[in-house]
Amino acid sequence: MKIPMLDLTEQYQSLKPDIVKALDEVMGSSHFILGENVRKLEADVASYSNVRYGIGVANGSDALHIALLACGVGPGDEVIAPAFTFFATAGAIARAGATPVFVDIDPLTFNIDAGQIVSALTDRTKAIIPVHLYGQTADMDPIIALAHKYKLHIIEDAAQAIGSQYKERKTGQLGTAACFSFFPTKNLGAYGDAGMIVTDSEELAEKMRVLRVHGSKPKYYHHVLGYNSRLDELQAAILNVKFPHLERWNELRRDKAGIYSQLIRERLSEEHVKAPLVGKHDEHTFHQYTLRVKNRDALQQFLKENDIETMVYYPKPLHLQPVFEYLGYSEGDLPETELACKEAISLPMFPELSIEQQQEVVGKIQAFYEGAV
Ligand SMILES: *Cc1c(COP(=O)(O)O)cnc(C)c1O
Repeated sequence: MKIPMLDLTEQYQSLKPDIVKALDEVMGSSHFILGENVRKLEADVASYSNVRYGIGVANGSDALHIALLACGVGPGDEVIAPAFTFFATAGAIARAGATPVFVDIDPLTFNIDAGQIVSALTDRTKAIIPVHLYGQTADMDPIIALAHKYKLHIIEDAAQAIGSQYKERKTGQLGTAACFSFFPTKNLGAYGDAGMIVTDSEELAEKMRVLRVHGSKPKYYHHVLGYNSRLDELQAAILNVKFPHLERWNELRRDKAGIYSQLIRERLSEEHVKAPLVGKHDEHTFHQYTLRVKNRDALQQFLKENDIETMVYYPKPLHLQPVFEYLGYSEGDLPETELACKEAISLPMFPELSIEQQQEVVGKIQAFYEGAV
């Protein structure tokens, strides 16, 4: 039995007639750029997030970049972010001309350690990007309090966390703006690149809309330097078919996560494998089901030999990436981040994963540790 990290084929088969019809309608209309499908998705995702505006952009990375620019972040500014995240979080800060300032993570949740943010603040700090990693929200109340006190913007990196909740508030309404990615592997995935920013600020929404079309307003008149970063109409048509299923898919992911955690508790020792902790305030959406394990690389190799695919998100922290060498960080600066890079491993996770597949995955992990001790 070969078990992939993610298998999108069953989902496509179940939605195929609707998707084909939606694509055919767009192609028949010849309206390919910023049409009614983009507008519908923007309205739906904004209202799902309980805010007024959605701005469809080309991908989640551009969403972060454009959100920062709209908030006025630029050269000379500092933006606080975790280093245990996908590259785009910090890439967007640097692309805006600002300086990423990395803060270590809470080892229990893998998210930014809110208690350490205050000591990273300077009079140049302009914004904080909490990342809701793996589908679990960062600890937002202390971050919101700090942002309020020091007049900082919060830009949620919610690329992995559409539908997740913090104290009964959905991602998307926990800061100045929030960024979603519809990369194919995300919980709501397009069939190519796509992304969205949501915000409750009319002024920021307007700036973002201008930035995604070359800074043009009115058309062919440019007061700011913008980009060509639009959410494609065909991708929006696909996402409109998928969006009504998102809550159910997230629920299924939570069910699968519960099954994994139960199997792990029954069969494995805490000494070898730690199941993910779900904070009592969180509605986790398990974009990834991520363990902390001993002897990670050997376990991954063993699982691979047994036809079980796993992934390491992320093997190298951002503060030690060569492209950020100029920031002057060195090994040891963010100990929890560096440890997580050595211990984290994500198991196959998707709504259609079967119980037999989950039993097989945990059984093989058990075989590894029983053989190894
Ligand atoms: C996927 C992802 C992004 C970027 O999204 P793209 O649509 O791939 O550009 C940003 N941040 C995090 C945490 C992500 O997982």
